[in-house]
Amino acid sequence: MVDRSPTINTGSTSAGGGPEPRGYEPEVPITVSPILDWPPRPVSTLRYLLTPVMLPYGVFWVALAALIWNFLTPSMERMATLHPSWMLEVYLRNAVLLTLVAGALHLFLYTRRSQQQRYKYNRRWMSTTNRSFLWTNQTRDNMFWSLVSGCAIWTVYESLTMWAYANGWVASVHLGAVRWDSAWLYMGLLTVGVFVWSVTHFYLNHRLLHVRWFYDHAHYLHHRNVNTGPWSGISMHPFEHVIYFTVFLLWWVVPAHPFIVILNGLFNGVSPAVSHSGFERFEVGRREGRTAPGADYFHHLHHRYFECNYGNRPVPIDKLFGTFHDGSPEAHARMKQRMRERRGSQSAS
Ligand SMILES: [Zn+2]
Ligand SMILES: [Zn+2]
Repeated sequence: MVDRSPTINTGSTSAGGGPEPRGYEPEVPITVSPILDWPPRPVSTLRYLLTPVMLPYGVFWVALAALIWNFLTPSMERMATLHPSWMLEVYLRNAVLLTLVAGALHLFLYTRRSQQQRYKYNRRWMSTTNRSFLWTNQTRDNMFWSLVSGCAIWTVYESLTMWAYANGWVASVHLGAVRWDSAWLYMGLLTVGVFVWSVTHFYLNHRLLHVRWFYDHAHYLHHRNVNTGPWSGISMHPFEHVIYFTVFLLWWVVPAHPFIVILNGLFNGVSPAVSHSGFERFEVGRREGRTAPGADYFHHLHHRYFECNYGNRPVPIDKLFGTFHDGSPEAHARMKQRMRERRGSQSAS
């Protein structure tokens, strides 16, 4: 029987029992965007949106989305009619993209172990003996949920949005309302806005998923991965995928462009492979010491402790609601205190 309870893991034990073998400990406290600071700090906020949000990875997803829109998306004429043939093409494209990114990261970091344990948060490798995973194999289990359920449900949302656009049911490129040449400033804002929206939506849907009923019926599946790998990113229960990909619904009411829809899909569908990779930095190139940013310690702490860091750094809503864990011993003590108070109020009622 799989234990689905949202255990408040404030100590150093892993979900599989036994101590979590800590590896690399990044510099703390974690810094977050000043976007929600009061009084507002527009210059610092813009600087944060430039880097780390857009640089280095934001522009990569933008360039990839532009490439996909121009060369790897069915024509608007075809998408005007809902038909399995073009939806299957979109599914295959999404599945291949995820496989290329998550597969490459897994190959270098876990199969070849190119950088050994350097920058790895948890000294364990992917489990091959844990019975809570399909076939007792964490990687195969994660691939199954990501490719079979994740990419399919992502594709359904993306296809329905494109279908609505192709029929002019929302103000879009076909109505001439949102185009790069005539509305470049609006398009530029939307492009950066995708990242802000995605993180905001992530906090909201994730908070809901930690309500006991939703956790027990859906989110427990993602949290079996205390030690995450590239394929853990969108390894979720189908019910969670249905909730998670409601991120597309904004583009049913806000006039956008198919490129924006594709970018949002990429950011929610593929970028979690990077943020869950388990390595704070990737060693790149032949020169020693050259690294690129990797997994996200903010979210790693969520996987380690469950009851903190529901959102993410670009829009740190956790700071407003007292659930922010910046990795420091002080933040850890605050979280434990919060948990004690909650347990106290639960047992008193
Ligand atoms: Zn996660
Ligand atoms: Zn969670």
